[in-house]
Amino acid sequence: DTIGANLDRAVAAWPDREALVDVPSGRRWTYAEFAARVDELASALFNSGVTTGDRVGIWAVNCPEWVFTQYATARIGAIMVNINPAYRTHEVEYVLKQSGIRLLVASVSHKTSDYRAMAEEVRGRCPELREVVYIGDPAWDALIARATPDPVHPELSCDDPVNIQYTSGTTGFPKGATLSHHNILNNGYFVGELIDYSEQDRVCIPVPFYHCFGMVMGNLAATSHGACMVIPAPSFDPAATLRAVQQERCTSLYGVPTMFIAELNLPDFASYDLTSLRTGIMAGSPCPVEVMKRVVAEMHMEQVSICYGMTETSPVSLQTRMEDDLEHRTGTVGRVLPHIEVKIVDPATGVTVPRGTSGELCTRGYSVMLGYWDEPEKTAEAIDRGRWMHTGDLAVMRDDGYVEIVGRIKDMIIRGGENIYPREIEEFLYGHPKVADVQVVGVPHERYGEEVLACVIPRDPADPLTLAELHAYCDGQLAHYKVPSRLELLETFPMTVSGKVRKIELRERYAAG
Ligand code: ATP
Ligand code: MG
Repeated sequence: DTIGANLDRAVAAWPDREALVDVPSGRRWTYAEFAARVDELASALFNSGVTTGDRVGIWAVNCPEWVFTQYATARIGAIMVNINPAYRTHEVEYVLKQSGIRLLVASVSHKTSDYRAMAEEVRGRCPELREVVYIGDPAWDALIARATPDPVHPELSCDDPVNIQYTSGTTGFPKGATLSHHNILNNGYFVGELIDYSEQDRVCIPVPFYHCFGMVMGNLAATSHGACMVIPAPSFDPAATLRAVQQERCTSLYGVPTMFIAELNLPDFASYDLTSLRTGIMAGSPCPVEVMKRVVAEMHMEQVSICYGMTETSPVSLQTRMEDDLEHRTGTVGRVLPHIEVKIVDPATGVTVPRGTSGELCTRGYSVMLGYWDEPEKTAEAIDRGRWMHTGDLAVMRDDGYVEIVGRIKDMIIRGGENIYPREIEEFLYGHPKVADVQVVGVPHERYGEEVLACVIPRDPADPLTLAELHAYCDGQLAHYKVPSRLELLETFPMTVSGKVRKIELRERYAAG
């Protein structure tokens, strides 16, 4: 199916069930009403000169118009380019130029971000950009007024590109993953299938739509099963999220672990009625056991699921199942999704390693992207001739098929021929009372090739951890070659806009010794 055809199916099956609710504005649409709004915008875009293969950018916080734009561009065969709402002029200009965006849909402003001022600043420098339309502005109404009654439903192939999503830029410059209808619609469908979505479900989506977590695991998973998408707020707000769950009787809630932590830590957490929840998805980074226990017990999410994925693979390739125990939900990222293959190989030789041994995780199947937009060399580096996507993540497959993520290859330290995984050392150092946060990286060393450096944010800057204290703490607990030989004290870590630490910057900063 194409995304448009799949929406037609949902409308035929559940015309009067709710498709979308925007809690901040109180607006709500049934499937029939939602599809009508999508068709109207599709026609308006088409009549504005947007045709098959044209790029339409969306640079906005979560709102119903974001979702209309997602489905309307898919309907007419345009390629939507998701732009991170945290981006500033320099980054947005890069994306506008790199993907050749013709029409940009943007928020006017939100909190401290004045999107209009930034877009107006860069538009003169982007020759392919013909039009910018701000949501909630008279320009939006003017765009909609161009719609004509006959729906624009051109024949499309499900292998056509529908979306360019940029990676987070954790290990370098963000790359634009080009994804087809087939890639993301199937992935959304299966992710929803594994948590038993139906037209009875109401999915609270506090994660940003610009990321695949929101628009694929959220929106496409919901609409392909007739479930309802619930927008609690334009950007993450823990109290607004729980209010939306209570008010809309949501059955499913999404978030990265830190979002769940923020919700559980609300002073009035106990006053929300969350008994309607049964499931949800946690993804992006590992979840602490204590948090998982509280999510299950106090948020009633007995069937919560952990997902592992990457932008390039639509995104999810591994997921825990509803019946999995706590240990599998915290110690692993689940097992492979239907119709996807995974293997773990020795990064040097490419040979599959035995179960229980760590190596590079590779995935293959319908979910692998078409390629990086306009970057064939990078595509060839990531996807090999056998169509395997090399994830760059180190993983171990257990005997029962469940996979543990060990770390990223780029972050692995090789000291005197020994492979060292920073995650293991970081988890150990977190336990020290003087450590608020810690990152471990490898830096060049004359004799050993690399040495281990610990970057620590001290709990009390007036009484920071010393190298001698660190060594005393590791003594007898960690193998000698893993013990950091250098310590740097920091106030903050360099972060990506999606909230991941940029270790590459730490490595460069301290490379000189
Ligand atoms: P870039 O590719 O630009 O350096 P990125 O890889 O962080 O950035 P994303 O595609 O947003 O960009 O993130 C995918 C990565 O996130 C995976 O390769 C993996 O390292 C990490 N990841 C995703 N889910 C999980 C999870 N459940 N547990 C641990 N790590 C995860
Ligand atoms: Mg990546």
